[in-house]
Amino acid sequence: MKLCNKCDAYFTPKVSYQIYCSELCRDEATREKIAERYQITRRQKRVGKIRKCLGGCGVDLSIYNDSGFCSNCNVSKKAVDKMLKELKGFIDYEQE
Ligand SMILES: [Zn+2]
Ligand SMILES: [Zn+2]
Repeated sequence: MKLCNKCDAYFTPKVSYQIYCSELCRDEATREKIAERYQITRRQKRVGKIRKCLGGCGVDLSIYNDSGFCSNCNVSKKAVDKMLKELKGFIDYEQE
């Protein structure tokens, strides 16, 4: 018996080097690995570049920031999105 590298289920390997219980787990793990590598290259591309927060606050973002907003603006961006949504609902209502 072996423990699947993906879902932690016990399985009987057909071949000694099998580390996943099923093709599903293997595919899923492969996909995750590709996504991870993509994420890493994306971050490496940011090295040496100055990325300012899109919120216009002037904060330099770290290479690990994926949203484009600093943590402060990320919060207010959510608030703005919510406000715009409500505003849109209001306008839709007005046009009816
Ligand atoms: Zn599995
Ligand atoms: Zn910001």
